[in-house]
Amino acid sequence: MTRAPVGEPSAGCGAAGWDDLVAGLRAGLSPESKIRREEPLAAKTTIRIGGAARVYVEPADVTDLQAGLRTATAAGVRVFLLGRGSNLLVPDEGVDGIVISLAHETWTQFEPQADGRVWAGAGLRLKNLCGRAAKAGLAGFEFLEGIPGSVGGALRMNAGAMGGWMFDVVEAVQLITLAGEVRTLPRSAMQVDYRHCQELHEAIALGAWLRPATRAEADTVKRQMEAYAHKRHESQPREPSAGCVFKNPPGHSAGRLIDECGLKGERVGDAQVSPVHANFIVNLGAARAADVIELVRRVRARVQARRGIDLTPEVLLYGGDWKDVL
Ligand SMILES: Cc1cc2nc3c(=O)[nH]c(=O)nc-3n(C[C@H](O)[C@H](O)[C@H](O)COP(=O)(O)OP(=O)(O)OC[C@H]3O[C@@H](n4cnc5c(N)ncnc54)[C@H](O)[C@@H]3O)c2cc1C
Repeated sequence: MTRAPVGEPSAGCGAAGWDDLVAGLRAGLSPESKIRREEPLAAKTTIRIGGAARVYVEPADVTDLQAGLRTATAAGVRVFLLGRGSNLLVPDEGVDGIVISLAHETWTQFEPQADGRVWAGAGLRLKNLCGRAAKAGLAGFEFLEGIPGSVGGALRMNAGAMGGWMFDVVEAVQLITLAGEVRTLPRSAMQVDYRHCQELHEAIALGAWLRPATRAEADTVKRQMEAYAHKRHESQPREPSAGCVFKNPPGHSAGRLIDECGLKGERVGDAQVSPVHANFIVNLGAARAADVIELVRRVRARVQARRGIDLTPEVLLYGGDWKDVL
């Protein structure tokens, strides 16, 4: 049996094996949980590319999530968490494993606490976190406005914008290990840096206690969010994408480097380096993951040749590792 790191490649187990796995999940989880075989993932990502999940589960509560993880472990199958799919490239052949989504309403709560903190479920969209905070007159989350992810994805990626990072507002994270143990970790016990949270490589965030900066008039919070939204609108492409493709190398902007290498508009199939923002690869309609991967290779090679800098992808190759394809 293999332990199943979140987002690592699976060993795979053949069609009959996957069917047996689904039968095992159906027997162990409540009817409120969704369980599907060969679930298409492209529509669950913002770049709208990729194949299917061999098995897909939306657990209705923590007991079902624990049962699903136990079944996966017993079958030696890998587990992959899916948030809003806004930082992922799903391979054309799909994902050999169980894809778990916290889309059920159990995981989307926004609950102001008596001690001033806010509980945000991992499945809550950042857009809804910002909207609910503004309505409640809580300031400090505005920088997350416009990031099209979930709280869980923002924790795993330590998402950031407009000078703020997700972990700036986190006091503690509740997570579940792949063995099914629920734990709470204070921010101080977590290793977090640029687009990265170590503890969530091998665990699933269930939610977090967030600390608002201050109380403010709802209108003031909304105005700040609108200013950020306007800034994004002016500087980012409208076509489907997975956000910034590459991390900014120390002291450089990846977008500027790519632009300076004359790569805006470069195309492989329907994958294109956005003419609006060079660190975005957009899907012009029928792009395949293979097209995006080839374009990523081309961009990296040109920037390496002209500037001597190796760009590292920020977008994750879902179920795989960039090292194996670049
Ligand atoms: C137009 C656009 C603009 C963007 N702007 C920004 C920006 O300004 N700043 C920024 O940082 N990012 C930005 N992004 C990227 C993306 O939105 C963020 O990285 C976001 O935090 C990803 O969240 P998600 O829910 O979509 O995660 P997904 O893309 O679904 O998953 C990302 C990773 O998180 C893991 N994951 C998801 N949920 C959990 C969980 N509950 N527990 C453990 N692991 C989990 C997944 O397994 C995967 O490894 C942008 C993307 C787009 C398309």
